[in-house]
Amino acid sequence: MAVPAEPSKVSKVAITIDHAFVVRFVHALDERLTDAETYLTELDAAIGDADHGTNMTRGLHAAVIDLEAAPDRGVAAGFAGVGRSLIRAIGGASGPLYGTVFATLGRTLPQDGAVDARAFAAGLREALHAVQRLGAAVVGDKTMVDAIAPGVTELERRLGHGDDLAAALDAATRAARGGAKATTPLRARKGRASYLGVRSEGHQDPGASSSALVFDALHAAATSPGTAADPLLP
Ligand code: ADP
Ligand code: MG
Repeated sequence: MAVPAEPSKVSKVAITIDHAFVVRFVHALDERLTDAETYLTELDAAIGDADHGTNMTRGLHAAVIDLEAAPDRGVAAGFAGVGRSLIRAIGGASGPLYGTVFATLGRTLPQDGAVDARAFAAGLREALHAVQRLGAAVVGDKTMVDAIAPGVTELERRLGHGDDLAAALDAATRAARGGAKATTPLRARKGRASYLGVRSEGHQDPGASSSALVFDALHAAATSPGTAADPLLP
């Protein structure tokens, strides 16, 4: 008979990036975006068209429904499905951009079995490149790239120093959040906010802010192995 692990040891179990990880991530991001919907929309009201919060929650609700309909895809196909859901449900600038992030993970991660932390970081690096190819933004243009780039760099650095995935994603989340905060004084050079010119200064970028939540949700997926009570977990 299997002996259940002590609670103190459960948190130390190495996290596998598998289908259940993708499910935990999508749920965690859906929760975070729902909590932050008003905040993200207010940020977008200041320098955009006041729809970023609702865009993101609409996209993530669609991704949750899609995952529930097809619960047993692998990691790469799971992320690809998230990308399709976001592109279909969001529209605007952030739909194709976030869609590209997850579609690129779906294309570049190993297609079978669990994914190791370094392969995942490499997939995120590819996703950043793909967003930059699509949107032509560099760090400092006051976009989601300002959060994703430092997040990916910190993830790679921490994994390189031997941190486990959860610790590395914790540090990556702080780096992404720092990147989002650092957009406040910048003048937007890409997207709708760039039309405001100097008036875009003094406001935090909504897309960079939601990107920090993406890292936070990845961190949550890497720290909570999940329970059998979750109907989505195998
Ligand atoms: P829209 O601008 O179409 O209303 P959203 O409000 O959902 O779309 O998303 C706006 C966010 O998209 C911005 O805050 C910015 O972070 C991001 N964004 C816009 N254009 C670009 C771009 N060219 N490259 C990267 N990110 C961009
Ligand atoms: Mg908008």
